[in-house]
Amino acid sequence: MAFIPYARQCVDKDDIQAVVDILQSDWLTQGPAVERFEQAVAEYCGVEHAVAVNSATAALHIACLAAGLGDGDSLWTSPNTFVASANCGLYCGSKVDFVDIDPLTYNLSPKELEQKLSNGQAARDLPKVVIPVHFAGDSCDMAAIHSLARQYHFTVIEDASHAIGGRYKDKAIGCCAYSDMTVFSFHPVKIVTTGEGGMVVTNRRDLYEKLLLLRSHGVTRDESQMTMSGQGPWYYEQIDLGFNYRITDIQAALGWSQLKKIDEFVARRQTIAGHYDEGLAGMPLTFQQRRSDIYSAFHLYVIRLKSGEIKKSHRQVFEELRQAGIGVNLHYIPVHLQPYYQQRGFCAGDFPQAEQYYREAISLPMYYLLSEEDQKYVINTIRQVLA
Ligand SMILES: *Cc1c(COP(=O)(O)O)cnc(C)c1O
Repeated sequence: MAFIPYARQCVDKDDIQAVVDILQSDWLTQGPAVERFEQAVAEYCGVEHAVAVNSATAALHIACLAAGLGDGDSLWTSPNTFVASANCGLYCGSKVDFVDIDPLTYNLSPKELEQKLSNGQAARDLPKVVIPVHFAGDSCDMAAIHSLARQYHFTVIEDASHAIGGRYKDKAIGCCAYSDMTVFSFHPVKIVTTGEGGMVVTNRRDLYEKLLLLRSHGVTRDESQMTMSGQGPWYYEQIDLGFNYRITDIQAALGWSQLKKIDEFVARRQTIAGHYDEGLAGMPLTFQQRRSDIYSAFHLYVIRLKSGEIKKSHRQVFEELRQAGIGVNLHYIPVHLQPYYQQRGFCAGDFPQAEQYYREAISLPMYYLLSEEDQKYVINTIRQVLA
């Protein structure tokens, strides 16, 4: 049996043709295909503005800067995420802190957030930005987070790297009904891909204009933004310190073509999840609690070992599955346990729910092209390993 990865992209003939079309056109980087992709995502999500960039990491960085995050400010996020959700705060020179997860949903806990905000108010240590991460494709409790944002005046940036194509309270993730901005990733393991790529979406015009500047050196060709007018047709001005975070038309064409299939991609992931639910029922495992107001994009399917009921260690189970050719993975090592964050004062024990989760979690293969046969093999192997 060939190795079954935990994730992989699905690129078909139409995707390849869309990329070839760009290679034969006049534009290779940030031209009409980027705008077409941005408009398609904005329309899909039901949001006003979209700014495509070359990764979700870049998207998080400029979203934080657009929110005004800087020196002396604080950013709070979940410890159960990829390091990029926290690093964006450090890029801006701000402090980063974490809010522990809910032990059932594995998402940032609104109860913990409320408690931490209330303590923070007394200590005059409140966040400027909070980044909820829709872990595995399941939306966080955005209504609760939104109401805390109003009370404590912080900006909400959803890290929806796992969640494009998912829904919350009957609206698409990315509609920004409960947040200021939402960030997507188009890395090949995610729901739709551009190779490398990311996007920020928002309903706020002020943030949109700032994001456009930051994506491209802080340079504008819009006279209404310039300090001097009538300088001539060659003239542009740098009015902010931006970056080169542009995405190419080649990548944007791939994303645009992939987006046409997003509902099919997510529906298939839902079916695969259903098969795991059935196939693994009755095993000494716990599963991510899925609230009824959520339609998951199922970037990941995670099982948690009930340590007390299994004779083997977590590591042993993990290694036996890898030896059987199954590319299981672990999402995530809690960010505060990374050496870089430990050097910044975080300790083991700081976020006990995320740490307990880390000792028990395993991500199973989950992707559009996972065959029924391969999935049966995964399920049967887990049953044998846990028997
Ligand atoms: C993948 C991922 C990122 C980073 O995405 P890139 O596009 O690779 O920069 C950020 N946050 C989360 C939660 C992710 O899963």
